[in-house]
Amino acid sequence: METINLTIDGQQVTARKGATVLEAAQESGIYIPTLCHHPDLKPFGACRMCLVQVEKMRGFPASCTTPAGEGMVVDASGEQVQTLRRQVLELMLAEHPHACLTCWKRERCGPTDTCLRQVAVDDRCVTCPKNERCELQRVSDFLGIKEVRLKSYRRQRDIDRNPFFERDHDLCILCGRCVRACQDIRNVGAIDFIYRGHRAIIGTPFERPMEETNCEFCGTCVDFCPTGSLRERAFPFAGVAERQVRTICPYCGVGCGLVLEIKGDQVIRVHGDREKSVNDGQLCVKGKFGATEFVHHRDRLRRPLIKKDGTFVEASWDEALGLIAEKFKEYQKRPQEFAVISSAKCTNEENYVVQKFGRAVMGTNNIDHCARL
Ligand code: SF4
Ligand code: SF4
Ligand code: SF4
Ligand code: SF4
Repeated sequence: METINLTIDGQQVTARKGATVLEAAQESGIYIPTLCHHPDLKPFGACRMCLVQVEKMRGFPASCTTPAGEGMVVDASGEQVQTLRRQVLELMLAEHPHACLTCWKRERCGPTDTCLRQVAVDDRCVTCPKNERCELQRVSDFLGIKEVRLKSYRRQRDIDRNPFFERDHDLCILCGRCVRACQDIRNVGAIDFIYRGHRAIIGTPFERPMEETNCEFCGTCVDFCPTGSLRERAFPFAGVAERQVRTICPYCGVGCGLVLEIKGDQVIRVHGDREKSVNDGQLCVKGKFGATEFVHHRDRLRRPLIKKDGTFVEASWDEALGLIAEKFKEYQKRPQEFAVISSAKCTNEENYVVQKFGRAVMGTNNIDHCARL
């Protein structure tokens, strides 16, 4: 790999050739604040949080779109740079409820704490579903924002809801991550910037409900949103997960990697596994939104049921499997009367085992699969 050498904040840094200044900094453990940047998306240069000063270069370029060059000397945290970032962030926060960021309590209240500020009920960190998970909070803390001197402007639009997630326009910073994720990763393009100037919002064509667009409800836009604007409808105020469990989606044979976010015994959120998974962090509607629903659903069967005198009665696994084995044994004597039908909802391995069971144990070649439908 070809590399280059540059200096960031007085530190000698070696970066791969072709990296941006931001990537060179991140790969060397130097933090530069970002909001519109996401590692899975092309650089956009919209939020201006990552601006830096480069020796012998005019102005303050965005580090996410500036290629790192041999011998470059970059100032990524000087007073001038930080002041400029603060001013840009203040402009952004003029259109964002910011009690959550400028509260005199300094320490942020947790989801179950009582807010002591005398502000509107929708202007508190404790009432935002992204509290303690919000990238805007992290950037604001890093820049030490204490007040917003500009007149506050609210978009005052209703929250857009669909069965799976919702969009609060007042919490949107117009970073475009949802739009780019939908267009560039999912190739759907269900949403875009609509209107111009201070009327600009993210929306659908002609502001139609999401259900009337080509949206697939994959939830990628929700996963990519850095603020509380886009959030899952299930367990919105569950807060930060206590632990995460990596697993495989049970819904179909693709076998996407899931990360279950868990609090207590409850799956509160799901996102795609980006590490060593077949799906590179992407999911479909079932994987993204299904698990939080079915795992805890009251109608979910948790124990085997055996029909006795026309009524289903709960049984132990030993009893249920024993009964099935008994009944199957009868058909081993006449395998032509036995068939195995499997499902595309099972994994490849399960389907293999099912056909093997049919042929090797039951002695039949009557094997079929619902995928042919
Ligand atoms: S989006 Fe972030 S900064 Fe805004 S209210 Fe929610 S937690 Fe606070
Ligand atoms: S859910 Fe998926 S398809 Fe729908 S808008 Fe979001 S990213 Fe696009
Ligand atoms: S909804 Fe979220 S991801 Fe989309 S533009 Fe607004 S803040 Fe960015
Ligand atoms: S149901 Fe969706 S998320 Fe689950 S494995 Fe299939 S494609 Fe992936």
